[in-house]
Amino acid sequence: MDSSRPMCLLMAGSPGSGKGTHSRRLANDLGISHIATGDLLREQVAADTPLGREAKVYMDRGDYVPDKVMVDMIRHRLSEPDAEKGFILDGYPRTQTQATELDKMLADLGQQIDAVIILEVPVDEIVERLSARRTCPACQRAYHMRDDPPADDERCDDDGAPLERRTDDEPDTVRHRLKVYADRTAGVIEHYDVDSVVRRVNGEASVDEVAKRIDEALGL
Ligand code: AMP
Repeated sequence: MDSSRPMCLLMAGSPGSGKGTHSRRLANDLGISHIATGDLLREQVAADTPLGREAKVYMDRGDYVPDKVMVDMIRHRLSEPDAEKGFILDGYPRTQTQATELDKMLADLGQQIDAVIILEVPVDEIVERLSARRTCPACQRAYHMRDDPPADDERCDDDGAPLERRTDDEPDTVRHRLKVYADRTAGVIEHYDVDSVVRRVNGEASVDEVAKRIDEALGL
């Protein structure tokens, strides 16, 4: 990796593969920004903004929010000062258009992608994880109620907010999200394969073990 400029990483993988957990930890360890489009959208939904109201319709169905909205959102986010120290994008790009537009934005910023981490987890495990997932609406930290529960069953360890089940983690919506991922996102990874920046990581293990595998894959 080129250490003369800020690091730029992408975290990819299907819903429930652990993208949020691992990109948050990695950003913290590396001192770079964690930019998760799902979190940015949920903030807009919680604040009941016009964008949030538009996005919610798609999110509740498990569909993607239109590219135009997403490209504008990420362009705006990458122009904020903290992005200059480097960043990890979590859940973006998810479509070919988003990937192409991201390349242009990064070129304008004098940036390029150092690594695309793909967390690979079998479908059965994904469905099990998402049905046991509870999320803190305040900080977005995710818990697995059997494998990684909070100290108090109902509340986030970090800020005490009551945990929620995301509406899009209901089983029917999960199945739809997995189909949308297979149809629209899995192929986007090929966009990066040619640049040989892709690091495939087996994500079927404990959080600590997967964290170790990611660090090894990045040569950290
Ligand atoms: P996530 O938290 O990454 O699972 O995202 C939750 C939901 O937000 C997704 O199911 C989509 O509806 C929407 N979303 C997040 N990121 C994107 C993106 N890059 N493109 C389109 N929709 C997105």
